[in-house]
Amino acid sequence: MFADRLQLLGTENAFKLADHIGRVQADGQTVVKLNLGEPDFDAPAHVAAEAKAQIDAGNGHYCHPAGIEPLRRAIAHQVSETRRLDIDFRRVVAHPGGKPSIAYSMLAYVNPGDEVIYPSPGFPVYESWVTFVGAKPVPMRLKESAGFAMTADDLAALITDKTKVIILNSPANPTGGLIEPDALAEMAAVIRDKAPADVRVYSDEIYENILFDGRTHSSIASEPGMEPITLIASGHSKSFAMTGWRLGYVVLPTIEEAEIFKNFNINLISCTPPFIQEAGRVALESPESAAAINKMVDAFDSRRKVVVETLNNIPGISCIMPKGAFYVFPNVAGACESLGAIEAFENLPADQQAKSSPSTLLQMFALYRYGVATMDRPSFCRIGSEGEHYLRLSTATGLDQLSEGLSRLEAAVNDPDGFADFVAQGVPA
Ligand code: PMP
Repeated sequence: MFADRLQLLGTENAFKLADHIGRVQADGQTVVKLNLGEPDFDAPAHVAAEAKAQIDAGNGHYCHPAGIEPLRRAIAHQVSETRRLDIDFRRVVAHPGGKPSIAYSMLAYVNPGDEVIYPSPGFPVYESWVTFVGAKPVPMRLKESAGFAMTADDLAALITDKTKVIILNSPANPTGGLIEPDALAEMAAVIRDKAPADVRVYSDEIYENILFDGRTHSSIASEPGMEPITLIASGHSKSFAMTGWRLGYVVLPTIEEAEIFKNFNINLISCTPPFIQEAGRVALESPESAAAINKMVDAFDSRRKVVVETLNNIPGISCIMPKGAFYVFPNVAGACESLGAIEAFENLPADQQAKSSPSTLLQMFALYRYGVATMDRPSFCRIGSEGEHYLRLSTATGLDQLSEGLSRLEAAVNDPDGFADFVAQGVPA
């Protein structure tokens, strides 16, 4: 019944895990959810007030497919100010959430067989779309020893004359890693020297406001020669805790490319709800927004410190301090070993191995037997991730829940007998 291409489409497990969580809850167990990447705050009141006023004023009709001009101007202004650029608003396209422009980029620039470089561990939707369009996936392995930062040397080794798109993400999901300004300059030099002239850099900067220790955001688009080849993608989901509002945007290198992205919008969604866009404009322009962002970032900052310290006290787990975003990405290799998860994985039949990993077994055990939801390593770009043992925990949850979740994880890690029994019963698919 289904088309062949469906085999190539991946997914975002953070959403899929909801089925498993539902089953655990239906069994009468509570679940501490450290799986989803969304702030536990609501949209700022002044932003919500604008949306309500716009609805009351009847602003609920079709609007410009690339986005309403006031929002695109506000985005052009904010991106210009923060990246030291001068952006024409006609290069901006708004769409629902941050994901569409990832897909649009693959559809617009990449032919089957072209190569796309993307971070791994990285946001899973990159790998999903790269494979879906028939491109050759070229995962750039991020090393824990380098703070999960992409480096110019790593990038240089992967660029060929078939490289069509290079996806960067800083601050990063799922690691909280950052490409520091020096590294950005070095990477820009590598791209200018080695990449084909028609390459595009897709710079996913959706966590641009969630940075710690006094850091400010830097974009590769600000480096010499990069603006004409870089797409700057961001959105409201993370900065303004507006995940369910669905508002994201991209600044294209040229107006011509923005027209292509506008046409994707026309074909897929017609337009983004105008009252959401007006509220999004207020989020970008209002002087009240900075305080709302700071409040969230302060909370994420203190939580990451507690969580990292607690994780490092669990035998078999070690965790580096994230520099941005609201995730920690602990190394659970020791815990997988002592629980028997590595051996249990090796004993799985080949078809089950293809969908699992030692960290997947730990994730499922912690969820089903101890009621704590985390994300396994393969959920963040699977290709070539064998032998890497990590979990992602979101810190976008209150400290009480985080402490409870970490106690549950610790109890799980200390229960090899329970793990053996769990695997013997058959890991839920
Ligand atoms: N890029 C990255 C790196 C993300 O982590 C996310 C959300 N988890 C997105 C894009 C998509 O965000 P949205 O929810 O606005 O579609």
